[in-house]
Amino acid sequence: MIIVKKITDVQQFLAKRNAKQKSTGFVPTMGALHDGHISLIKAAKKETGVVVCSIFVNPTQFNDPKDFEKYPVTIESDIYLLEKAGCDVLFLPAVAEMYPQGLQTSLHFELGFIETILEGEFRPGHFQGVCQVVYRLLEIITPDKLFLGQKDFQQCMVIRKMAATFFPGLDIIICPTQRESSGLAMSSRNKRLSDADKITATAIFETMQYVKNNIQPGDLNLLQQKAVRQLTAKGFRVDYVTIADVFTLRLQESWDGEEQIVVLVAAFLNEVRLIDNLILN
Ligand code: AMP
Repeated sequence: MIIVKKITDVQQFLAKRNAKQKSTGFVPTMGALHDGHISLIKAAKKETGVVVCSIFVNPTQFNDPKDFEKYPVTIESDIYLLEKAGCDVLFLPAVAEMYPQGLQTSLHFELGFIETILEGEFRPGHFQGVCQVVYRLLEIITPDKLFLGQKDFQQCMVIRKMAATFFPGLDIIICPTQRESSGLAMSSRNKRLSDADKITATAIFETMQYVKNNIQPGDLNLLQQKAVRQLTAKGFRVDYVTIADVFTLRLQESWDGEEQIVVLVAAFLNEVRLIDNLILN
């Protein structure tokens, strides 16, 4: 695996790829890698000739400066895991390389409804920051295929929307959420949980399964309220437990028994904010 920090260097390497007509798979990450990230690298490896991973903790997508400061950094272990998974290129840019004009940008992405709800509501500006960095990375890497995790369900929809406008030829592949055997979704933020909190955190998956097992056509409010109460009783501060349409993320107050729906959860355990989702039917 080659490790590059400069845009000109990564582009020089990728120009050789173009000459050899190899397709490129791209996995953008913020590092502190785990098996969830590595599953994306492996999927990219299967489907494309050159696999590029980026590690960049993007300041513009953190609405909470404390969350940014405390974001785990484990670069040596990241490099080891990427090497082992067969990643070809690690792009490791500095902030000044990514944003030479500074963090403010005049670029605004028209995301509409999708950025007004759930993560968009609780983390104002977050999805503009996500689009800003993914747009920039896609411009630099120019991949054929982009690999994203279903773990960040709303983020996948936002990136799809941005890419449809600016990168219409890009193939976006959504990979399933990787979980610990306890059911806890793998996440870089889990590194900030104590051992006791890791056990408590499994309540998110249990609650989503409770919703899946108990959902019935008709009003959904009671079920959503019960789910919130279950998490609150375990010590979570819940931002939302919401059942929504899989394709539009329109929030469902009632269900006709047919529409494809997903339950999405965001909750704090102590200072750590965890998100997860489960498709219900
Ligand atoms: P992050 O480093 O958190 O920005 O995540 C980088 C990519 O890895 C995103 O596309 C995430 O959705 C994906 N990802 C994070 N956690 C998981 C997981 N547990 N399973 C599968 N993909 C994941």
